[in-house]
Amino acid sequence: MGGKRIIIGTVLLAFVCISSCAAKDHDLNSETVSMTKDVFAMDTFMNMKAYGANAGKALDKAEERILQLEKELSVNDEQSDIWAIDHSFGDEVNVCDDTAVIINKAIEIGDRSGGALDITLFPVLKEWGFTTGNYKVPDDDTIGELLSYVDYRKINLNGNIVSLPEKAELDLGALAKGYTGDEIMKIMSEEGVSSAIVSLGGNVQALGSKPDGSDWKIAVRDPFSPEQDMCMIEVSDKAVITSGNYERCFTADDGKVYWHILDPSDGYPADNGLVSVTVIGDSGIDCDALSTALFVAGYDKAVDFLRSENGYELILVTDDKKLYYSEGLSECFTDLSDMGAEVIDLD
Ligand code: AMP
Ligand code: MG
Repeated sequence: MGGKRIIIGTVLLAFVCISSCAAKDHDLNSETVSMTKDVFAMDTFMNMKAYGANAGKALDKAEERILQLEKELSVNDEQSDIWAIDHSFGDEVNVCDDTAVIINKAIEIGDRSGGALDITLFPVLKEWGFTTGNYKVPDDDTIGELLSYVDYRKINLNGNIVSLPEKAELDLGALAKGYTGDEIMKIMSEEGVSSAIVSLGGNVQALGSKPDGSDWKIAVRDPFSPEQDMCMIEVSDKAVITSGNYERCFTADDGKVYWHILDPSDGYPADNGLVSVTVIGDSGIDCDALSTALFVAGYDKAVDFLRSENGYELILVTDDKKLYYSEGLSECFTDLSDMGAEVIDLD
């Protein structure tokens, strides 16, 4: 276990091709032959690995699906559903099923998280420059005005018809990759693949176990040294999805670091004590939405969530450099950090 670290996220990046490429591992037994495919989409280097005779076809179809979802969900593509919604000025927009399903889930997790997840933060995110990389700290008046357009409860979703208040805009960046991972896994299963793993930025999703029956080893990055891994878990058939403050962040003139996950209550980067949240569960879209929501909600509410909901495990890192994991991971968790990992106390 310890010596054989398979560092999925980072090792996969080493194989990244900017457009897309496929490669075959030379194993003798057809069920243990793996193929990989790298795709750059949704502003993310994505890597997929599938085993068995149908791997190549499944990977090709998965790539097509990723590119289709990118077209539907991009905030920058003038043909996308999201562009149409964000430029509808209060009018109704007819969207495809994917968009409707994701918005519906975002509203559900918005409710379950007391508004910590709010996909209508987009105007505020733009002002900070998190959507373009032209970062700046907005002034309080501007944040205040833009926040008055933010409220996911005002999204009107009726079947495939969406409308927003006139000045509201949305983006699905907090959960679109989780949905994409689920769709990739669906394609893999439909194509007869029973063993596959995908890494979409901070999202890792595993189908089945490795061909030899052992669990996948999935590393989670250290938010204080993102080029290193802080822990590894061994799982099969799970989504392992991380939101961290080390991605898309900048140091402003005031010397402070600002990051891309905003607290809808004040429009500033969420700074409630957590610097990394990993949610492990069956559904990619749920885990993705929850990782962002719990990052905003903070440690105590994340622990409340763990108490009240079944089917999820958590790995949390606090800004005072403590690493916590839920008890259900005890058998499959390996600490690689110098933080001294502790089990989350539910009492
Ligand atoms: P993730 O990396 O999954 O946590 O998603 C973060 C992305 O979601 C950001 O880059 C923004 O596009 C968007 N976002 C930031 N804060 C929030 C929030 N509180 N609710 C919903 N989306 C957010
Ligand atoms: Mg997320």
